[in-house]
Amino acid sequence: MNWLTNFVRPKIRALVGNNEVPENLWEKCSGCEQMVFHKELNANLRVCPHCDNHLELGANDRIKSLFDGGEFTKIKYKSKLHDPLKFRDSKKYSDRLRAARDLTGEEDAVVVGYGRIGGNKTVAVVLDFNFMGGSMGSAVGEGFIAGAEFAIAKGHSFLAIPCSGGARMQEGIFSLMQMPRTVAMINEIKDAELPYITLLANPTTGGVSASFAMLGDIHIAEPGALIAFTGPRVIEGTIREKLPDGFQKSEYLLNHGMVDMVVHRKNLKEIIGKILSLLTHKRY
Ligand SMILES: [Zn+2]
Repeated sequence: MNWLTNFVRPKIRALVGNNEVPENLWEKCSGCEQMVFHKELNANLRVCPHCDNHLELGANDRIKSLFDGGEFTKIKYKSKLHDPLKFRDSKKYSDRLRAARDLTGEEDAVVVGYGRIGGNKTVAVVLDFNFMGGSMGSAVGEGFIAGAEFAIAKGHSFLAIPCSGGARMQEGIFSLMQMPRTVAMINEIKDAELPYITLLANPTTGGVSASFAMLGDIHIAEPGALIAFTGPRVIEGTIREKLPDGFQKSEYLLNHGMVDMVVHRKNLKEIIGKILSLLTHKRY
């Protein structure tokens, strides 16, 4: 305690009033490091107005931005707490799961449902990075399967939007098993001759990129997204070589044939709608 805290601060408070600025009113852009007004950022689909950096977009906001009229009916999937290893690091896995559920209001890291994009009936499986880094555990596998089965039963197109660090390490081998499970479902989608589109958001890495994310009929990526199995820092550390600029980013992958197009978030709805119309032989 000193005269600064006891005397000067109350004086300043009295001068400027007590309306302290809430901390969450502004957000720092991870691209240009400028502070952006939260409302402005959200109104701009979380694309930085200064540098066009595409910041993470929650699964539900993404759905709203893509589906006609924001209308989307969720499909339920088995999501009961699955902690086969009784895993614990600094916190218990079960506690982490509960905290993530409270944070996002979702059962697990995937939101599954159906609606229309550009008039086309579409089932979407959208990973939410806010839920434990969008990691793929058993529940995400169940959600993917529930979505794919619904698409096959109804003849809807299938859209997957990965935004994930990869497999969920807390479930060990059970999370790795979701890789072949999701791949098997994609084969069924293809057997049913339904379009399967993936929209790769930042980041799409690890077991998710090594399974369903890279098996679409068409791969669309958001600008500047990291799309990789192993991230560049680990590769550089292993091979002890400097990697080229933009390595494993959307634009680099477009130039090397791994993705078909890089599309600005504002244009995604229109482009996906057109592609779905073309693939399902409709006029647009
Ligand atoms: Zn920026």
